Amino acid sequence: MPEGDTVFRAAERLRTGLAGKTLTRSDFRVPRYATVDLVGDLVEEVASYGKHLFIRTDRVSVHTHLKMEGVWRVFHRGQRWTKPPVTARLVLANDEVEAVGFSLGKVQVLARADEHTVIDHLGPDLLGPNWDPAEALRRLTAHPRRAVGLALLDQRNLAGIGNIYRSEICFLRRVHPTTPIGEIPDLPALVDEAHRVLGKAAHQPPWRPMVYARTRRPCPRCGTAIASQPLGEDDPGDRVSQRERGIYFCPRCQPRP
Ligand SMILES: [Zn+2]
Repeated sequence: MPEGDTVFRAAERLRTGLAGKTLTRSDFRVPRYATVDLVGDLVEEVASYGKHLFIRTDRVSVHTHLKMEGVWRVFHRGQRWTKPPVTARLVLANDEVEAVGFSLGKVQVLARADEHTVIDHLGPDLLGPNWDPAEALRRLTAHPRRAVGLALLDQRNLAGIGNIYRSEICFLRRVHPTTPIGEIPDLPALVDEAHRVLGKAAHQPPWRPMVYARTRRPCPRCGTAIASQPLGEDDPGDRVSQRERGIYFCPRCQPRP
């Protein structure tokens, strides 16, 4: 599942290809917006917030979310698409490039003034210009009995972390992912680590996982076999997704609470 770093880099590519240029083609392949036509709109900016991406024109903000399998690609005009055309959900093009969103989990056209409604409930963006560690800490500590591995995934606490980085951050801080927030020895350091890890993944990709999806492989610190277990939440109202929620950890470096 794409995490904040992937969305951040997608925004960078889209910004390079689209910003400051007028759209000469728009093709929304989702029923709700099939008749929306952005030809003639000037793309002013492309921005990300956590896992949300916004393409802002002089009239509207196109909000997209990759969810499980979405990806944005930017092609030069005439270049062959590298994904099946049937999976394209949105095409935005100018005289030079075609930006194609494949398998997007969400496509929404918003008035510019309504963009905030999508992100108002989210915690501070780990990759944003206004990253606020104190606010992230305040939100995390509001639920001291919650497992850190769940709290880090919850975008209402801090925005951008998915299944890969929650395991990596816990490993780096030597805490077991099921440790309650209130029992983390140095929570500010863990929040700083989250910021560092996401920043490195976004600015110096690729991130090579140390524990994620490395079950039975040796821990890079002590050589003990990496273990895994599911850690999700059953509450269907919770924003943390139910699917494929494995945590990976070193049983020696990260003892259970
Ligand atoms: Zn270890």
